[in-house]
Amino acid sequence: MAIFDRAIVRLLPAVPRPVVRKLSERYIAGPELKDAREAVRRLNAEGKVATIDVLGEEITTEEEAAAIVRAYLDVFADIERCGLDSGVSVKLTGLGLKLGHELCRDNLRTVVEDAASRGNFVRIDMEDSSTTDDTLLLYRELREEGHDNVGVVLQAMLRRTASDIAALAELKPSVRLCKGIYLEAPDVAYQEYEAVRASYVRALEALLDAGSYVGIATHDEWLLEEARRIVAERALDHDEYEFQMLLGVRPQRGDDIVREGHRLRVYVPFGRHWYEYSVRRLQENPSIAGYVASDTIGRLLGRNGS
Ligand SMILES: Cc1cc2nc3c(=O)[nH]c(=O)nc-3n(C[C@H](O)[C@H](O)[C@H](O)COP(=O)(O)OP(=O)(O)OC[C@H]3O[C@@H](n4cnc5c(N)ncnc54)[C@H](O)[C@@H]3O)c2cc1C
Repeated sequence: MAIFDRAIVRLLPAVPRPVVRKLSERYIAGPELKDAREAVRRLNAEGKVATIDVLGEEITTEEEAAAIVRAYLDVFADIERCGLDSGVSVKLTGLGLKLGHELCRDNLRTVVEDAASRGNFVRIDMEDSSTTDDTLLLYRELREEGHDNVGVVLQAMLRRTASDIAALAELKPSVRLCKGIYLEAPDVAYQEYEAVRASYVRALEALLDAGSYVGIATHDEWLLEEARRIVAERALDHDEYEFQMLLGVRPQRGDDIVREGHRLRVYVPFGRHWYEYSVRRLQENPSIAGYVASDTIGRLLGRNGS
């Protein structure tokens, strides 16, 4: 994204919520569980699998964390009842990471155990780098307790990712590999687009070397080509890795991936706490700068109300 566009995108927090909501509709299934159910039904009919995310992060009370846990239990029951092909993704700050390690572990365990009782799987999303150590520790603790239906996410932009892969290798972790969305300092994260891509390829190779099941989460055409080359060179079966994309991003490219015979999982967020997730998605949309600029200028000129 050009420097000018990036500057415009920084204005997003100043854009009124109803406008953000409208612009981000494509990225979110809707406010209710039934909206996620319908989205997953449609995806399953297209030959895609899903991972459902209950929106809600950086919560501040135990009650809010407990409500998110209950929401996940409802999701598992619904997936089972409706015969959907979907796992779930959780954010640890939504399960109380900032309120205490034990509280968060108890909440995560409740979710993971309920998933296991229904043959389901829990992916722990990765948040900003202030949470990486705690997230990997909680993942490790759950695995050491014997829970195998849980996976984690690593971010190619973080400089530490290569050593995290080495440290986790003994667990043969199931890993979603993504670029990483959070704004990080240069000593923590690669800043250049090409450096992140190169790190992504290195991490993918290292994970496959370690025998990990990798969710290759990207919409970057160059990385998609590299990943297809790597899995072909290694003669991996289609059930030894998967591609992953976000709801509302490059769905036709997703169709092509499915047609080629790869497994594709789509991340389906739903819920009432849509704002933070929406802003992150809009910040990555290459064509959003124009919308934001025209909306902001329109309001400055008093042309609001559309
Ligand atoms: C399934 C999944 C789960 C993820 N989980 C996490 C996580 O746990 N933690 C984390 O930090 N990050 C997560 N991410 C986000 C990820 O880190 C990137 O920020 C995001 O995927 C964009 O990177 P990219 O590889 O698609 O490449 P980019 O270079 O950003 O995008 C490549 C192309 O995809 C299209 N595109 C990308 N984003 C959008 C958009 N919002 N709207 C319209 N078009 C777009 C554009 O055509 C763009 O040129 C996840 C991504 C996916 C796909």
